[in-house]
Amino acid sequence: MKILCIGRNYAEHIAELQNETPDAPVIFAKPDTALLQRNQPFFIPDFSQDIHHEIELVLRICRNGKNIEEKFAPTYFDAIGLGIDFTARDLQSKLKSKGLPWELAKGFDGSAPLSQEFIPVANFPDLKNINFRLEVNGEVRQQGNSGLMLHDFSKIISYISQFITLKMGDLLFTGTPSGVGPVKLGDQLTGYIEDRQLLNLAVK
Ligand code: MG
Repeated sequence: MKILCIGRNYAEHIAELQNETPDAPVIFAKPDTALLQRNQPFFIPDFSQDIHHEIELVLRICRNGKNIEEKFAPTYFDAIGLGIDFTARDLQSKLKSKGLPWELAKGFDGSAPLSQEFIPVANFPDLKNINFRLEVNGEVRQQGNSGLMLHDFSKIISYISQFITLKMGDLLFTGTPSGVGPVKLGDQLTGYIEDRQLLNLAVK
């Protein structure tokens, strides 16, 4: 199983970090040791003073595929869950300024909390209109809608599969909307797709 993520997929998030809008999707990976499941608490690592939350819709890949055409892409995922792409922003900024890869800032242990529950694709009336949000201590911090993605689910799957074979069980983090920010000790993070709570974890 592998975890692939797309960066810079929502215009307002690109603007808040003053990044350039990429022509092609920006793709990076997290190792399986990044996963944090069953609402286990997130422990702030020693190497960062600026861990940011990034709430994201996560696709569960259900078939193996390579060079997948966009029109067939919807048959390659069967459920959508919710994840957080925790990012050591201070470390990422350092690496970015040197033109180095982001792995350590994005792929550290526990950097990918994932909902236990995944909602079957068939339960969504419109994949281009899925609302999701992150609350910190009960306050809404990030709010997104899949219709605002620069590259939609099909485009992401088609694009990645030109380079990397997708396999059953792989997870695709599809990018974060605006509102990212630092977490601190004692925060309680709750994540929702529509009004269904899928994530509820403490920061320690
Ligand atoms: Mg992200």
